[in-house]
Amino acid sequence: MLSLVAPPALGRSPLPAEGGGAGAVLRAVLADGPLTRSDVGRATALSPAAVSRHTADLNALGLVRELPAADGPPRAGRPQLPLDIDTRHHLACGVHIGVPWLTFALLDLRGRVVAQERVPRRGDAAAVLTALQAYLPGFLARRAAGHSLLGLGVVTGGWVDPESGSVIEHGPLGWRDVPVRDVLARTTRLPVHVDSHARALAQAELLFGAGSRATELVQLFVGNVVDAAIATGGTVLRGRRSRAGDIGHVAVPGSTEACPCGRTGCLQATVSDWTIARRAHALGLTPAVDFDRLLALAGAGDTAVLRLFEERLRLIAPAAGLLLDVLNPEVLVISEGGLTVAPSLRPYLAEQIRRHSNAAPEQLVTATEFGRETLAVAACAGVLDSVFQRPMELRTAARAQR
Ligand SMILES: [Zn+2]
Repeated sequence: MLSLVAPPALGRSPLPAEGGGAGAVLRAVLADGPLTRSDVGRATALSPAAVSRHTADLNALGLVRELPAADGPPRAGRPQLPLDIDTRHHLACGVHIGVPWLTFALLDLRGRVVAQERVPRRGDAAAVLTALQAYLPGFLARRAAGHSLLGLGVVTGGWVDPESGSVIEHGPLGWRDVPVRDVLARTTRLPVHVDSHARALAQAELLFGAGSRATELVQLFVGNVVDAAIATGGTVLRGRRSRAGDIGHVAVPGSTEACPCGRTGCLQATVSDWTIARRAHALGLTPAVDFDRLLALAGAGDTAVLRLFEERLRLIAPAAGLLLDVLNPEVLVISEGGLTVAPSLRPYLAEQIRRHSNAAPEQLVTATEFGRETLAVAACAGVLDSVFQRPMELRTAARAQR
């Protein structure tokens, strides 16, 4: 039986200080837990009384728990049992809408993928939203039974407005002004967080990944869509009308690939998964246009296929170098399929980027830690981020449900 404890879907950017003391305690335990209460006090600059109060609140919500005492000689006074994130009760659900697939995922509070299923994406926006609503109840019954759901995240590439919960424009899917949140919130009765794939990934990297010690982070995603996301002061930038990070249409010198935007030679059109799968097929490397097959060949070390991925990385290097120099983040995380399956490509990319940038080597992360789970993690990131920013809103939501 599914129960629902959920924060209201808020369409505003969380500030680092948001969520008050309880949020600070929860994020400290996430970043460095298990922690004793004195460790939490040091990490958050909260008084012992405040730490105790917030810990009790978070414990009552099933967000943190006390671990059993470690073995050792008994000590006088109250034992300092370490606190950790409680991953037993809550799950975040998410859906990534891609060009070839819809990926359904469940993550625990530590951002670990508990379940993941995918089905082919077919048809227009209305058909996709109908398919998604039809698939979700079975997925949740199979994989989330006995847990409370924190909400539903929906992410996709392109121009997405979290404020209105709509996909404003997704070139490769041909979507325009699709009110995803309105449609799904009505039928699923879950709070729905809609965001761009790249921004959601940046949020996930800040919470659980390469950026968990950083506040200045840039995410560059290369798939069927090419997108960037910029976090500064620990908050992911949306920009005017939520369009920040749209780097997919910078011109690639010499490229004649036609882009749905009407121009030719755009970065996204030149290096997308679809474009290189088509190129591989034309070169006779695969029997059909099949990106998954191409990834498998790259993973197996096929030299001609690896050359094709190197060419793609060479073409994205100027954009990566530009992001590094203009924004000078603590880390730039690059998420690209070839880097995930063939780590031998990583030094090649680093070398290509050095040709275009003054950045220090430690600023560059050539592969997300999420690897093959990138889509699943991104799908749920918005839901988890809202819990870590504003944990006490769970209580308000639970009360409202009664
Ligand atoms: Zn374009």
